Amino acid sequence: MQITDIPVEGYERVVRAVDPASGLHAIISIHDTTLGPALGGLRMWPYPNEAAALFDVNRLSRGMTYKSAVAHTGLGGGKAVIIGDPQHKTEELYLAMGRFIETLGGRYITAEDVNTGIADLEIIRRATRWVTGLSRDAGGSGNPSPYTAYGVFLGIRAAVEQQLGKKDLAGVSVAVQGVGSVGSALVGRLVEAGAEVRIADRNPERVEAMVRKHGVSVRTEREILTQPVDVFAPCALGAVINDESVSQLACKIVAGAANNVLLAPQHGSLLKDRGILYAPDYVINAGGIINVSCEFLPGGYDEQESLRRIERIPVALRELWQIAERENIPANEAADRLAQSIIDNARAAKSAKPSGARG
Ligand code: NAD
Repeated sequence: MQITDIPVEGYERVVRAVDPASGLHAIISIHDTTLGPALGGLRMWPYPNEAAALFDVNRLSRGMTYKSAVAHTGLGGGKAVIIGDPQHKTEELYLAMGRFIETLGGRYITAEDVNTGIADLEIIRRATRWVTGLSRDAGGSGNPSPYTAYGVFLGIRAAVEQQLGKKDLAGVSVAVQGVGSVGSALVGRLVEAGAEVRIADRNPERVEAMVRKHGVSVRTEREILTQPVDVFAPCALGAVINDESVSQLACKIVAGAANNVLLAPQHGSLLKDRGILYAPDYVINAGGIINVSCEFLPGGYDEQESLRRIERIPVALRELWQIAERENIPANEAADRLAQSIIDNARAAKSAKPSGARG
């Protein structure tokens, strides 16, 4: 296996592995480890070329630094990609990926991501111990989705209080786009809290299951975005807030699980101009990573501690909304400032420590 560094400004280390024997061509991007080892998922994608993969892995890696900082997971940000067709996965490929991760000695820790599942992680685990998100039976923290949903639920409650001055969700209307792993668990919690829930999903079986279980009302994919509701909760895709959709929204709050909800940062300004409160994606959807980070507790994974930490998501949201108000900036920008200030403070504290100091 040939491993080479790719110098990228602003990143601690970016490395490429090429292994002709297994067919592995992969990149690991370590953005920042000020707060701890860099944790981020491993994606397998048929990128057209290495430049496209490099762009993607670096963008995602930086995102992980910010997400972990605001969630106080004690971890830094990293990400990995395998360039290749996920239809052609092999055991050799994932074993080689494990060996590649092992060469970084724990500075990068991997997890599930697009096209990489628990079965793949179990293969990687045979070559390196720097793997998280394995099943509970295998000593991991298991499926993160219910924890993500819990955090999003708490975030929606905080947003409703912030924007509508209401302390509970009784009678609050919520349009949930996507009822997959996270969306379906969120709907259960919202219904239980007395919210009036409308859903849309392109998978009719999932829609039917939700109607049967919770009696929620159904909208089409197009309708869900323009519902006159208190909360629009995107739990399907990214980039749903874009030039076209932002003027069509008829909600007071945007708060959901989806990653990269805003097509571009300026769409956060457009939400602000329209008086719509935004709960930045990487802050409100951090429940999953918080749960994974609890695998690193001194006594091993602890669910109660994980729930306690997820319950701090509303605290982070209120803090960034306060920054947004004080500085008159959009919430997404306030989230980035909050994350950056947490990293800068930790870096300053580290460099202030006399050399040789412990702890
Ligand atoms: P999932 O694949 O289980 O569910 C997504 C659902 O959205 C599916 O049911 C799909 O049919 C539906 N969908 C796709 N396109 C749609 C459209 N145009 N309109 C309506 N429905 C549509 O995924 P998930 O794990 O529930 O994750 C949902 C989102 O949350 C993703 O953006 C994911 O990146 C993000 N997220 C998930 C986690 C987690 O713990 N799973 C953590 C953080 C962020």
